[in-house]
Amino acid sequence: MSDEFILEVKNLKKYFLAGRPALFSRTEQYVHAVDDVDLQLRRGEVIALVGESGCGKSTLALTLMGLENATEGSIFFEGRDITHLTDRERKSTRQRIQMVFQDPYESLNPTQTIEEIVTEPLVVHGLAGDHGERQAHVVRALEDAGLKPAEEYMHRFPHQLSGGQRQRVVIASALVLEPHLLLADEPVSMLDVSIRAEIINLLADLRESRGISVIFITHDLGTVGYFADRVAVMYLGRIVEIGSMREVLTDPKHPYAQALLSVIPVPNPRLRRKRMILQGETPNPIELPVGCRFHPRCPVAMNICKESDPRLLPISETHRAACLLLAK
Ligand code: SF4
Repeated sequence: MSDEFILEVKNLKKYFLAGRPALFSRTEQYVHAVDDVDLQLRRGEVIALVGESGCGKSTLALTLMGLENATEGSIFFEGRDITHLTDRERKSTRQRIQMVFQDPYESLNPTQTIEEIVTEPLVVHGLAGDHGERQAHVVRALEDAGLKPAEEYMHRFPHQLSGGQRQRVVIASALVLEPHLLLADEPVSMLDVSIRAEIINLLADLRESRGISVIFITHDLGTVGYFADRVAVMYLGRIVEIGSMREVLTDPKHPYAQALLSVIPVPNPRLRRKRMILQGETPNPIELPVGCRFHPRCPVAMNICKESDPRLLPISETHRAACLLLAK
């Protein structure tokens, strides 16, 4: 494994057993939540993982975190295979990979003070022995998360803070373990628009000051332009396009990425794109469409798209080129 990459994911699949199609059927059906994902993340890099609800981006994060077991494939973190670890091995990895959840209202214990909440991960991981040492870690984490001076917040309870301050406490709880990778799952979607930029700027600062790599999960392509190096677009369990933030935002190749981008509000009317409104619902992840799984909704689908997955066809480049020409 290359030292350049902090995370390397190969052919990762996560399927959930959904049951049987009929009472006495022997066939089992599976939800294909994550289906053959490859991803590499460099040290200090920020990747935005974008897609609509139910596309598998949160399941991918939970599988990377070890909160879900991978069905197939491999996950290498800092050169070590962490795909299938024992609980004890997992604990030491969790210290280095931390997650920031979407809802700062649900993810904080309302009966604990901010100091207790941020101290808890240190206690769970058996770190920082005496009280003074622990408190120094908590103060640094709170201040790095933008709650300065920390002493002003440590004795408060979550209900005494605003939504943005609560999300900063959630981030401080992750930072206190000095992680190398943050998995931020829709970290701003529950916040007021005015506060979103503050939290995104905070994550950008942390990348600079601590060299943390970040996977920023969002359904809103409009928020990622601020600080992501690369953008990965996910549809129905697969990454359908990945590229530099500039490439994907200015010249998306896949029709799904084009559709997502076309509905982002742009203040300058001259830069506005023609809106592409996708027809129909996302297909059932239990019974995936044959061929390209985007074909039932693709505005430029061809007959061959109903038969063959373009990724698997030797003609995929030709097909892709044709698909893009038609999409212009
Ligand atoms: Fe899929 Fe075909 Fe549309 Fe390309 S043109 S995205 S292969 S359905």
